Amino acid sequence: MTNDKAEDIFFSELDPSFKDEVAKKIGLESIKPCYTCGSCTGICPVHEVIEDFDPRRMIHMILLGMRKEVLSSDLIWFCCLCNSCFFVCPQEIKFSRVATELRKMAMDGGYVDKGLLKRLEQVNPYLQDLCRRTMFLKVREGFCGSHTMPCWRKHTKG
Ligand code: SF4
Ligand code: SF4
Repeated sequence: MTNDKAEDIFFSELDPSFKDEVAKKIGLESIKPCYTCGSCTGICPVHEVIEDFDPRRMIHMILLGMRKEVLSSDLIWFCCLCNSCFFVCPQEIKFSRVATELRKMAMDGGYVDKGLLKRLEQVNPYLQDLCRRTMFLKVREGFCGSHTMPCWRKHTKG
């Protein structure tokens, strides 16, 4: 009985429209094609240093409709927007785009703790450096494509 009640509360908090809202904001019809292969998490440089940061898990939470948990999570601010996951995603899901929209939604929805943003200012240079180094390595490994950042793309043509 207690469990049923807990489940009722849990399911009542899920928001099935969340995934469609995120998809619309990033210009997709749907982000449902994610089949949780985990390639994104496997290549993510931030996951290597912050184990809890897991793009596959975050996409799964979006698909489940866990709006509050996702938008109030500190983790959405840790993506360094390097696009490494996009290189390997078989479904061409661009998590950097998802993360950017989640941040805007978190700000608009009042989910963000101002103290966190202040603390992030100290972490951001480190994340940006991680992003740059990761992209540099990817380009050296031969990754190239329209989704490579313009500043790197000019070094990968020809
Ligand atoms: S790589 Fe793409 S399909 Fe695989 S889990 Fe990540 S987002 Fe989903
Ligand atoms: S864009 Fe980079 S940091 Fe963000 S989830 Fe993808 S691989 Fe990780």
